Amino acid sequence: MTSVVERLTGRAPAFSVEFFPPRDTADEAVLWRSIRELEPYDPAYLSITYGAGGSSRDGTIRNIARVATETTLVPMAHLTAVDHSVAELRNVIGWYAAVGVRNILALRGDPPGDPYGEWVPHPEGLRYAEELVELVRSLGDFCVGVSAFPYGHPRSPDLDTDTAYLVRKFRAGADFGIAQLFFEAEDFLRLRDRVAAAGCDALLLPGIMPLTTPRTLHKTIELSGAEAPRWLLDRLEPLAHDPRAFRAEGLDVVTELAARLLAEGVPDLHFYTFNRSKATRELVRRLGLSPARAFTARETGAPVEAARG
Ligand SMILES: Cc1cc2nc3c(=O)[nH]c(=O)nc-3n(C[C@H](O)[C@H](O)[C@H](O)COP(=O)(O)OP(=O)(O)OC[C@H]3O[C@@H](n4cnc5c(N)ncnc54)[C@H](O)[C@@H]3O)c2cc1C
Repeated sequence: MTSVVERLTGRAPAFSVEFFPPRDTADEAVLWRSIRELEPYDPAYLSITYGAGGSSRDGTIRNIARVATETTLVPMAHLTAVDHSVAELRNVIGWYAAVGVRNILALRGDPPGDPYGEWVPHPEGLRYAEELVELVRSLGDFCVGVSAFPYGHPRSPDLDTDTAYLVRKFRAGADFGIAQLFFEAEDFLRLRDRVAAAGCDALLLPGIMPLTTPRTLHKTIELSGAEAPRWLLDRLEPLAHDPRAFRAEGLDVVTELAARLLAEGVPDLHFYTFNRSKATRELVRRLGLSPARAFTARETGAPVEAARG
């Protein structure tokens, strides 16, 4: 099974996609339509997040297993320490291995109920992502990713402390980091510089949200943990009641951000898809990241066989 790092080393810049576990059968059909639509675009890997409850967790395990066994894609499963004993975590990691998932994003997770609340570890569980990195590493030949925060994790007292804990996760065995959402390329590049200045040359990948609706903008602001810059609000807020115009401007904003990041040498753009594929496919095409086989005959005007070539 190919690792995320293998997929990103020595290649042209790539993109990857993140999904969340479906809530019901209808949701699952949407998820799988999106996965199949993205498959010809050859994302470097596909990840599925890990929720707080039993059915959502089952959904992650079941669907990432399907990605591993029924598609040509490289799967990555998220895993958190929330409400899990070490024995349970070992079990989940074992399930991932059993279905051929060798890439794991090791996270602490948020306190259930209040993401900004006090973190209380499971009595027989883990306190920090760093310990989960060590656990996953100790159980087999996994490629391990961790989260990183361009503006610092909301509970970190300052950026220096935040950077020090991030670097500890790499020293504990993490192979790469995925950055939380941010607004300007410089915000990500400063995070990369802080990590480099701490003597760590870890692979850091930017997280990108296609800004197609006001909801995706609000989600970006919420997840980033920072205030949106005035220029961004000035470009998008006046279009809040014009869905087509908002989408067009939002995708322009994201294209500009992504192009700048690619110019700065990032090896991969990690797209949050909201379980849809259209905006990601559009962005990937605009940025020239899609392989020829992604284009159907109708789009290229060529016969189907040639277009697949
Ligand atoms: C790309 C990405 C994907 C995500 N996917 C999911 C998901 O699938 N499911 C989900 O529930 N959540 C997910 N999250 C959210 C994440 O779980 C939360 O942000 C969580 O609050 C922090 O997780 P962490 O792994 O960064 O924790 P940690 O790295 O453990 O950090 C948590 C806090 O503790 C501090 N800290 C870290 N190590 C130490 C230490 N040794 N001693 C003292 N303090 C320390 C840090 O500075 C930070 O403030 C994701 C976040 C990102 C960026």
